[in-house]
Parts: sequence; C-alpha cells; structure tokens
Amino acid sequence: MGTKSIGLQLATQLRDIFETAIVFLYPAKCRVCDDFLGVAFMPYICADCWQDIQFLEPPWCDICGTLGVNGLCDACATSPPRYGQLRAVALYQTTLQQAIHLFKFEKKKGFARHLIQLINAHIPADCDVATYDFILPIPIHKKRLRERGFNQATLLADGIAEAAGVRVLTDTLVRKRHTVAQSSLDREARQQNIVGAFDVVEPGIIRGKRLLVIDDVFTTGATIREAVSELWTADPAEIDVLTLARTVDP
Ligand SMILES: [Zn+2]
Ligand SMILES: [Zn+2]
Repeated sequence: MGTKSIGLQLATQLRDIFETAIVFLYPAKCRVCDDFLGVAFMPYICADCWQDIQFLEPPWCDICGTLGVNGLCDACATSPPRYGQLRAVALYQTTLQQAIHLFKFEKKKGFARHLIQLINAHIPADCDVATYDFILPIPIHKKRLRERGFNQATLLADGIAEAAGVRVLTDTLVRKRHTVAQSSLDREARQQNIVGAFDVVEPGIIRGKRLLVIDDVFTTGATIREAVSELWTADPAEIDVLTLARTVDP
C-alpha cells in the first residue's frame, strides 16, 4: 500500500468522523423533507427546503397586501383597515411553518438569527423600515413570556430594527389580558378572544410618530387589527405592519 492510498484512507476516515460529529451535533434529518442533513448550513432544515420558501411579490392590495390585486381589494375598498399598509415577507407554507414552529413553540431561540437574515434580505421594497420612528412588536402576555422565555415578535423586531437603525419600543404597547392562543381558535372566536387584550402605556412617546408594527405570522388579522386600534388611541401619525409570514385566503 503506497503513501498516497494511506493518505486517502486517512482522509476518508477523518471525513467519516467529521460527518458523524455533525450528525451528532445536529438532528440528523431535515424537519421538512426528512432527508439527512449532512453538513448543514443551519440546524433542522436542509438547504433545498430553505430554498423553497416563497417570497411575496406584487401585485398586491395597496393596503392589506392580499396577493394578485391591483390597487385595492374589495374588502379594503369598502371598509379599509386602520393600518396604512400591511406587508409580509413570505408565504406561511411548509418550510416557514416548520421554521416558525421550531423557533416559537420548541423555543429554539437561536433559530431567530436565520429568520432575521431572511426578513432583512426580503423586506418588500415599499416598506422602508428606516423611515419609521419606532418599531413595535406585538406583545405577548407576561404569563406566556414566562412560559416561552422570549417574545418571538420582539426578537424579530430587534433584528429588523438593528439593520435599519430604528428604535424598538417594547413597553409602550402591552398585553393587559392573558388570552387563549389564537392558533387554537377559528376566525370568529379569534376576534372575540383578542378584544381589549392590549393597552398603550405612556402614549406621549408615540403621539405624532410613524409606527411599524411587527409580528411573526399574519393569519386572520384579528390580533393585528386589535393592536392597531389600541395604538390609534395614542394619536400616532401613521401605523403600518410588517410580518414574517402570511397565510393566503382560501
Ligand atoms: Zn429538507
Ligand atoms: Zn386589501
């Protein structure tokens, strides 16, 4: 056996050891497609599935961002929501659902980094974050904060704000009432569940200011509507919304 093949053998052995270490360090399979992760660039989700994330593009409703609409959708034309515009970065489908689940419900706080990178790279062009006076994450109740250890919207807001050089306010819009998780309810019950859940503390800070509200997922919009309606009591100049993901209406 020549030196060359011994070297090759050693390299193969080292590679095996390295791959074993990677599989040991990270869960072996992708959460989405169940393929082995191998040498992964991020834990839990493979590069192929990560590439499948569907970023949103116009045309969309000028106000609520409903896809495939030029100008205003019927709902916004007849009874416009109280925010100026709502934008989302990507569709709430397979990969992003898994990613948000990992982050939010399995409390993989470190995964926020990947989601923040994704948001900052794909914020819609008509949402110029740097022009807002303040960024406000949708708050969670302190009971839920204790359970989870962090507010997912605040982590995302911090990452977006840092890149744009805007201040985040976490003590201005607060959750005064503990509510059942919105995800466990249907559309109608969500509206009932969230009424009166928010409060604005020290309204003077946001009076006359341009606000950008941040949340992780937009589904029925009940939470966003209620938070925005409460924020208007402080008389800001403008309220827009940006979420990481949104569902599409059936
Ligand atoms: Zn995969
Ligand atoms: Zn609309």
